[in-house]
Amino acid sequence: MGQRLGLEQNDASLSLLSGSASPLPWPSFAQVYSGHQFGGYTPRLGDGRGLHLGERNGLELFLKGSGPTPYSRGGDGRAVLRSAIREFLASEALHHLGIATTRALAVIGSETPVWRETQETGAITVRVSPSHLRFGHFEYFLYTRQEEKLEALIEDTIQHHFPEVNGEGDPKLAWLRAVVARTAETVADWQAFGFCHGVLNSDNMSILGETFDYGPFAFMNTFNPGYVCNHSDHEGRYAFDQQPGIGLWNLNRLAVTLTPWHDDEGLKAALSDYEPVLIARYLSRMGARLGIEEATAADLPLIGGLLNLMAAAGVDYSNTLRTFAQLDPGSKDTPLHPLLGQQEGFEQWWAQYQARVGNPGTLSHWQAERARANPALILRTHLAQQAIEAAEQGDNGPLARLHRALCRPYDPEPQYDDLRGDAPSWSQQITLSCSS
Ligand code: AMP
Ligand code: MG
Repeated sequence: MGQRLGLEQNDASLSLLSGSASPLPWPSFAQVYSGHQFGGYTPRLGDGRGLHLGERNGLELFLKGSGPTPYSRGGDGRAVLRSAIREFLASEALHHLGIATTRALAVIGSETPVWRETQETGAITVRVSPSHLRFGHFEYFLYTRQEEKLEALIEDTIQHHFPEVNGEGDPKLAWLRAVVARTAETVADWQAFGFCHGVLNSDNMSILGETFDYGPFAFMNTFNPGYVCNHSDHEGRYAFDQQPGIGLWNLNRLAVTLTPWHDDEGLKAALSDYEPVLIARYLSRMGARLGIEEATAADLPLIGGLLNLMAAAGVDYSNTLRTFAQLDPGSKDTPLHPLLGQQEGFEQWWAQYQARVGNPGTLSHWQAERARANPALILRTHLAQQAIEAAEQGDNGPLARLHRALCRPYDPEPQYDDLRGDAPSWSQQITLSCSS
């Protein structure tokens, strides 16, 4: 990524990325946007703590935490080391799992003290993506009644990021359809991997369908469909099992920005793709994880049955699914049995599962396929926390090690075995909030 951006690992890049070069050799600007936050419309948000450094070779460079801008609204424009490291690790972890996400090039520590509940170390995350456009950018121009600018923004977005819809009879509707599909796929991936975003406001929704603006996110440990990772989310609006519905709710907010050109019917038709695309993607992910070939909607009760058993047993989501990589679907003695065997209905579920999988062919091959679909290593909150605490003491070793391990989640090297266990009980005490 650095190479594609023309950046070398040297002092000049460091002074560019830390924002300390004066004047900055790249263009630098902050953008206005608005958005629906926790259901209510906020008319003016914007890059309050971020700076765009423009685009090179199709990638935009963005500094998060670089200081105040005209959109800071009384905030200090800073980010703390803890949140910068979390965003860095999460973007790289999701990318290597195969989930669409913005990327992170670096975390740059700062001497500037930053006050949150206590004094913390400041830092910048260097974020990279083909586009930093959010649903909220489009909402801003609609609600400020700047239709010409809104249309110019949509056309520019299509030209640069969705050229394939240009040939369609109605490019704006085709564009909405494309955003609907990308969003649906990403949300399906979150559901399949137990990822909870935490703040799915429309200003945190990427127009490219990438996972965007990491805050109080978490990969689930114990499986709990109603899990709320963000302690500031008192109503559970962004609970894990609410994410599919919220994705569609946000797409409705985006669709509204096309009302100057389209009536309800066209917009509803575009939005109606969301559910089938999401389900198809979820089935493809979960089918691969469980070894259900060509999973269809008829398999949803089987998949849901396993999830219900996992929730009832209170087992770890990722590590339980990883056992499919050592499981023999022809046997009655598998790594899944000690985890779920005591649950009422398990034997019935197992019989249905065996009947559905049938003859898996060569077992080692079948298991290797399951290993490729079920990560052995995910970014657990306590792992990030340990890396953060070391970095706050000036030791970046654990962070670098965790980052290396997360680059190979499906076949981690044995030296990273210590990162693979279920979460320790103390990790439940870590609280994540909007300041995370
Ligand atoms: P976020 O919670 O990071 O999605 O941010 C929501 C809005 O608040 C965005 O407009 C941010 O730019 C702004 N914001 C968040 N933290 C700060 C801060 N420390 N200083 C200024 N603006 C901020
Ligand atoms: Mg945001």
